Amino acid sequence: MSTHFDFQKLVRPNIQALKPYQSARQDFNDGLLLDANENSWGDPTQSNQQLNRYPSPTHPELRKKMARWRGVEAQNIFVGVGSDEAIDLLFRIFCEPGHDRILTTPPTYGMYNVSANIHNLVVDEVLLTQDDFQLRTSQILDAVTKHTKILLLCSPNNPTGNTYDRADMRKLVENFPGIVVIDEAYIDFSEEPSWTAEVQQYPNLVVLQTMSKSFGLAGIRLGIAYASPTVISYMMKVKAPYNINKLTAQKASEAFEYLDTFRAHISALKKERKRLRQMLQTIPIVHQIYPSEANFLLVKMAMASAVYKQLADRDIILRYRGNEPLCTDCLRITVGLPEENDQLISALKNISL
Ligand code: PMP
Repeated sequence: MSTHFDFQKLVRPNIQALKPYQSARQDFNDGLLLDANENSWGDPTQSNQQLNRYPSPTHPELRKKMARWRGVEAQNIFVGVGSDEAIDLLFRIFCEPGHDRILTTPPTYGMYNVSANIHNLVVDEVLLTQDDFQLRTSQILDAVTKHTKILLLCSPNNPTGNTYDRADMRKLVENFPGIVVIDEAYIDFSEEPSWTAEVQQYPNLVVLQTMSKSFGLAGIRLGIAYASPTVISYMMKVKAPYNINKLTAQKASEAFEYLDTFRAHISALKKERKRLRQMLQTIPIVHQIYPSEANFLLVKMAMASAVYKQLADRDIILRYRGNEPLCTDCLRITVGLPEENDQLISALKNISL
């Protein structure tokens, strides 16, 4: 079932009326370029990448590559400075500061809250289920008000590591009266299929992915939003004119020529995720290791906060998640290389509480 969407009602009036900035590189790329106040002498490092020229405002080639990779069209793709930029833009497009609300399902990715706070939005929260961190779909739909514009779901979820039941997610995509974001930052580590292809069916669905995790390119800052052409065109309208720089676009594009290595890294990581779990199971202070379809494990252990500090004293840095709801005494452990995981396990064995 596809929902009819009235974007006129959902999009902020000032964004609908906005006349976007016309960047110089939009119309002409070749010829005697004296239009953009660039520096014709070039950059001091004399790079041969034409870094004195502004990048493409829309990166059509990169978006085409990404579209082919996920089985959608280039018009379904927005590229941003990390998926964090996409979250920020969606709030700007759909949510009136000081007036509108978003819905989240803690424990989940902390940036949704931070971004909402920046935009002065109210965050309504419906906790995941206690035992298996699944969605409470009825409560979520009951929590919708006439000012609720965006529902953010993260699957596989950070910090719990699990994916949500697909039928539950579909129920929410089909019945939530605003934008449903499915954040798939960790999808390539999971056996679950992505929701990207479904953006062609659901005009209110936005799927977020990133090159920071499975592609191992956190340093270039490249996030991707997949959505209906209507949503993508609003994102294009509101973004900074040259949000993705040339070096980032080049590296992102190059990565698609190394898909064998990409796949080999993912399969090594999954093997290591299993081995790390097995090793953690032998540690007496470890109480519970939650199922994970991501590149980390959420682990409940005795005196997690003290363990966290002791490990930090030995330069082993984990993420303390014990202050998150449903995560009392939990640490989040990123799966490292085999020797890194061995080092962690050996330190955990030698901890004195
Ligand atoms: N979504 C989730 C669920 C994440 O865990 C993270 C990074 N920790 C991001 C998005 C941000 O990704 P990016 O590096 O693309 O901004």
